[in-house]
Amino acid sequence: MPRSPIWPITGWRFNGDDPAMSLRMIGDVLRLRDIATHCPLCGRSTQRYVHTEEHIVPLWLQQKHDLLNQRLTIPNFIDKRYRSVKIGICARCNNQRFGAIESRLAPAFTHPDPYAALARVDDAVLAFWLGKIHWLLARKSHSAHDHRQRDDPSPGRILPTEVLEGQRLCGMTLRCFATGKGMVACHRDDPPVPQFFYEAPYTLYRFRIDERDQRIGAFDLIDNAMLAGIALRSGSVGLICLFDGGIHGRFLTQRYAYLDGNALHPRQFSELVGQIFYDQTVCDPSAAWVDYFWNTPLRAVVARLGSPRHWDPYLAKHDDPQRRAHMLGFYTQQDPASVMTDDGRFFTSLRRLDGSFLPFAVTEAELEAARLDPTMELRPPINPTIRRRLFES
Ligand SMILES: [Zn+2]
Repeated sequence: MPRSPIWPITGWRFNGDDPAMSLRMIGDVLRLRDIATHCPLCGRSTQRYVHTEEHIVPLWLQQKHDLLNQRLTIPNFIDKRYRSVKIGICARCNNQRFGAIESRLAPAFTHPDPYAALARVDDAVLAFWLGKIHWLLARKSHSAHDHRQRDDPSPGRILPTEVLEGQRLCGMTLRCFATGKGMVACHRDDPPVPQFFYEAPYTLYRFRIDERDQRIGAFDLIDNAMLAGIALRSGSVGLICLFDGGIHGRFLTQRYAYLDGNALHPRQFSELVGQIFYDQTVCDPSAAWVDYFWNTPLRAVVARLGSPRHWDPYLAKHDDPQRRAHMLGFYTQQDPASVMTDDGRFFTSLRRLDGSFLPFAVTEAELEAARLDPTMELRPPINPTIRRRLFES
């Protein structure tokens, strides 16, 4: 189930000097101004501020992984080459606010061990950076008409407006950062003075990637516009970010605790991305309803989620094995029918039957050990260069 497209401003609190300006900012993000006339990050007008066309996926990352001539295979950008996916943003965002992030992250991502190099980088910096890629991809694809409908009187957009509206929490987070304001999330039943409960408006996970398998490329970008999620794998680091008000991290982190301290094979990372994105589809829609407030003392926008603080909105009644199989199959490049048994159980490359982490078999010795283990099933690879090891959960 996608995030609810209903994101009203239902109230605000202020006791400071210029709350109206920030309320205008909130309204501006909710209105989704045309990117041809306004910077998609800070909202500044193209008439008043210099705008330049910038790569949505940073050039230094494209150069590191030799992506320039490769095609994005993420939805909405099929057949586009990385080097041609650009968008106009203002010089201030490009050179100052977001430029500072790029300057900090580029040396870390181009380090021989990015996972270690990023250890001292705050989650917020990574979330803003991933959010920028995610939001700009969404704005770019929303701005373009679907060429398959070019003969229609009113051709649809590649990314429909309803889907873009579900990503406003990401857009609001970036707008706050771009304009020097804070952004926090809370829940509908928090006390009247909830500063002590404010949390980050996103969930960010970072994983070490097992790079031993030279047959797998060192880069992957996975973007889900419906679920406001983006994942990126670059060398030894894998990042998954959801603009969900922080609820995945709040309620489901323990479910993935068995991964702590373990390095994931790239195929395991892909499966994990599929599973975490699937989690968002069973979330009660109330958790995606957000009211925005302006808090003057904190100089921050407060996103108040529609779900209560202590109520887990991930509901078993929304579980749909077919949808789960479809998503896991999509993200791991397998036939959905092959990831689920006839009686509704799922294969996984992540866990053993006892629930502990399952190291991925790469070397011949590891593969031989897997062959001898009755709980394992070695799958014929879809890509002949890739071997997968799976077992039933
Ligand atoms: Zn800007």
